[in-house]
Amino acid sequence: MKRYERERQAAIEAVIAACRLCSAVQHRLADEHKMSKTDTSPVTVADFGSQALIISHLRKVFAADPMVGEEEAAMLRTPEQQALKNEVIRLVRDIDPSMDETQILAMIDEGVGPCDFTQRYWTLDPIDGTKGFLRGEQYAVALALIEQGEPVLGVLGCPNLAVDPNDPTKGQGVLFIGVKGEGAFLRPLNQAQETRIHASIQTDASRTRICDSVEKEHSSHSDHARIAELLGMTTPSYRLDSQAKYGVVARGEADIYLRIIKKPNYHSCIWDHAAGVAVVKEAGGEVTDAFGHPLDFSVGRRLLKNSSIIVTNGAIHAAVLRAIRQIATP
Ligand code: AMP
Ligand code: MG
Repeated sequence: MKRYERERQAAIEAVIAACRLCSAVQHRLADEHKMSKTDTSPVTVADFGSQALIISHLRKVFAADPMVGEEEAAMLRTPEQQALKNEVIRLVRDIDPSMDETQILAMIDEGVGPCDFTQRYWTLDPIDGTKGFLRGEQYAVALALIEQGEPVLGVLGCPNLAVDPNDPTKGQGVLFIGVKGEGAFLRPLNQAQETRIHASIQTDASRTRICDSVEKEHSSHSDHARIAELLGMTTPSYRLDSQAKYGVVARGEADIYLRIIKKPNYHSCIWDHAAGVAVVKEAGGEVTDAFGHPLDFSVGRRLLKNSSIIVTNGAIHAAVLRAIRQIATP
């Protein structure tokens, strides 16, 4: 049996179940026009439901592993939020009828339990890219296993991403999987057949393509444009929400993902990057901060030792870091 086989299997099943719940909520948001797009409740309901499904699934296999997730159930236990809680319970039970209210709330709370970040733990973002989710665009369900500060397994569910960007008939909804020492894989969300994926082999920076966030508050689009100019790139940036960007680099659809942070002292949450890092690295790519340091997942719920994040196919990583040093020097 391969080293992470049980973890890989459990993580895939958990993410698929969570993607089903999130897709159901997003489709209802689009179809019924019942909820306003400025209303945060659909994303809240899906966030809680996704976390409950993922943690309960992992708990059945790994009784002792710490789980670190974005949500906690305290708000759902208040009398004012009873309607929200009931909706979460209904959605979770649609996917897993074996769970009752007590279990659902307890599983959500597992995500904020004690954790020694220097040891083995799981981290999950039940919905990454909530702004994209609300716009009806890209989002991801992201789950990773960390050992000694390094993501060793990542599963990224991207329900709205094209299975094959060159063939729209193949539909949308993909799962990216990265396992340390085994490589990176892609499968459609509704099929078990996996394909091995690789980052691009482009070494000529002028022929590469960048991807970055849609939301301009999340990173510096102007710095990204200056880096692209310095490297002589001509293709416009591919803007999409969530860790789907890591998947896009891992399968060679883009060569670089830039996240230059402008806000002083802003540090990303671990669950916003862990799964993506495992996938891209196993696809042959590279992930560091703007100084070329690896991301350190051993220091807590945020990446306190890293700020900006640079993802490439590996081959052009040094060239991108050089360009960043140039724009940083007045
Ligand atoms: P993206 O879809 O790649 O733009 O990233 C979504 C993630 O950005 C969310 O999960 C947030 O944790 C994170 N985020 C929120 N505010 C900021 C900010 N000011 N700078 C960088 N990232 C942020
Ligand atoms: Mg997130």
